[in-house]
Amino acid sequence: MLRAPNPPGLLPEPHAVSRLRASRLARSVKPFLARGGIKGERCAGCRLVPSHCICALKPDVSTQAGVCLLMADIEPLKPSNTGWLIADVVKDTFAFGWARTEVEPDLLTLLADPKWQPFVVFPGEFVAPERLVPKVHAQAGRRPLFILLDATWPQARKIFRKSPYLDALPVLSLHPEQVSHYQLRRSRRDDHFCTSEVAALCLDLVGETVAAQTLQAYLEVYTRHYLQAKHQLPPDLQSPAHQALRALARPSN
Ligand SMILES: [Zn+2]
Repeated sequence: MLRAPNPPGLLPEPHAVSRLRASRLARSVKPFLARGGIKGERCAGCRLVPSHCICALKPDVSTQAGVCLLMADIEPLKPSNTGWLIADVVKDTFAFGWARTEVEPDLLTLLADPKWQPFVVFPGEFVAPERLVPKVHAQAGRRPLFILLDATWPQARKIFRKSPYLDALPVLSLHPEQVSHYQLRRSRRDDHFCTSEVAALCLDLVGETVAAQTLQAYLEVYTRHYLQAKHQLPPDLQSPAHQALRALARPSN
């Protein structure tokens, strides 16, 4: 189902990425000026300018899988960060800021929690073969937890190499055909328009097809609104992505 628009002045409980953004902003020595964001206010629910707000289009799907985002320092501050969209769709999304010299105790607690079966998602060619798993074999009583490195590519490699608490975890490398499909899409965009695509692919791998398609359609809706706002065009609410999102978000009974 689609969520009802928020009554004016009321926002839903902030999700993990929203909270990480708020704490990162609070630590900023100088105000962070998002590209194009100096002039106007942004919706606190979706980070878009109010005329292009997508809060009313936020889908409500249920997922067994969880996502754990390890975010490079500046990532939560970018208005185009798509980890935010994952947290909108996947209820059990966790987000941690990454630092080389320290690790948040809550992250270690999460990784040690037996109800989760964690996988680091990373390209196989950069990983020792013995750590790679070809697919997700669900263990009874455990839910898959996909650890995504939300960062530029050089930062992601650094996070992967310099996080000893990830070393013991299996690595899921995305299937080559699927990766090339996503890279094709990514090449038309900024490189940080890809974390939610990776999450959608992971959901698909564990059979959560509706959630995967919903996240993908939601990303496309978000991207459209983001670009139309940037080019000062009115939001097109009838795009194929909007129609796909509406078709996926059937009313619940
Ligand atoms: Zn909004």
